[in-house]
Amino acid sequence: MPHRLLTLAAALLVSFPSAPARADEAAFASCLAGLRTEAQSKGVSAQTFDTHTAALAPDMAVVGFLDAQPEFVTPIWDYLAGLVDEERVADGRAMLAQWAAVLARVEAEYGVDAATVVAVWGVESNYGRNFGSRPLLGSLSTLSCFGRRQAFFRGEFFTTLKIIQDGHVAPERLTGSWAGAFGHTQFMPSTFVRLAVDFDGDGRRDLVDSVPDALASTANFLKRAGWRSDLPWGFEVSLPPGMALADAGRRNKQPVSAWVARGVKRVDGGALPAGSTPAGLMLPAGEGGPAFLVTRNFDALYSYNAAESYGLAIAHLADRLRGGAPFATPWPTDDPGLSRAERRELQELLIARGHDIGEPDGMIGARTREALKLEQAALGLAADGRAGQRALQALRANARR
Ligand code: CA
Repeated sequence: MPHRLLTLAAALLVSFPSAPARADEAAFASCLAGLRTEAQSKGVSAQTFDTHTAALAPDMAVVGFLDAQPEFVTPIWDYLAGLVDEERVADGRAMLAQWAAVLARVEAEYGVDAATVVAVWGVESNYGRNFGSRPLLGSLSTLSCFGRRQAFFRGEFFTTLKIIQDGHVAPERLTGSWAGAFGHTQFMPSTFVRLAVDFDGDGRRDLVDSVPDALASTANFLKRAGWRSDLPWGFEVSLPPGMALADAGRRNKQPVSAWVARGVKRVDGGALPAGSTPAGLMLPAGEGGPAFLVTRNFDALYSYNAAESYGLAIAHLADRLRGGAPFATPWPTDDPGLSRAERRELQELLIARGHDIGEPDGMIGARTREALKLEQAALGLAADGRAGQRALQALRANARR
């Protein structure tokens, strides 16, 4: 089971009504009273429980997130354009320099290179700039009492109380995603217990306020997920015309030599790993888009969030941090995605046209999409609300300053 739930989809959602109804508050109070006994059987003292649950109120918005279907499925080229943009590459290189000594020790101890560790950090929390703002105890106690995965979330809730009881992270610093992922590396509490490490030697495993602990914990996660220091994650490859693709797929590993015999080559002309290395042929946008040969190290990245698009964002960001080039093969679209800077620009252009969509923060939410639909219709484009290059260029050409 992946260590997280639905965080990719949830990132795209906007707010639900969140004020609890009186009936919800009563049900919550009664549920919490029951959890108090169960918590003690899991090693949470009555004092810890009482101290940290006394002021809790149910946050019903998170129950909405649990059941929500994303109303807009993000194409992989939009997803990658926002996650691996020039800003995140530049910021990541600054982090590689700033934390070079720690990253060298992390690599020596866990066998995961600096660029990979920093790429996970950049994708997970934008290098510590975005932890998520929901108090963990509020989210997890609510999900322990409402909704369809209460048993799972009770485990995470009790574990969070244990983390606080053991003094690893200050309780007021425990905020995160609606589902309870927190800190620089967005670990769930149960993942924290299994895999977080104290790397700065202060006796606490602190993924919120210690960058060394967070970087080492990420490397430990990848090592335990099967990362091998002597392997690349994979490469973008070119395929010979007419190649049969029935056996493509990340999990369908065959020796690199078998792929080479069929005419698969690296797009940059470089050498592939040893012929006996198992590798899968991944086509994340199907035929006609970029193709990748991926090793077990890609599977280790995948295990962080159980999405190929996510694994590819980290893998590609790591390559870019090492000085690698953008993908050679274009995505199969005539409307490529936007960087975060371009998303902010698109929002500013919408604001200039009189739309109240809040601050231009580069997050494309429901309000941005609704405004965009109106302007697309006015400009003679398909009114689908998708923030891509076509919409941006049309707005630029018709800008009102
Ligand atoms: Ca520590």
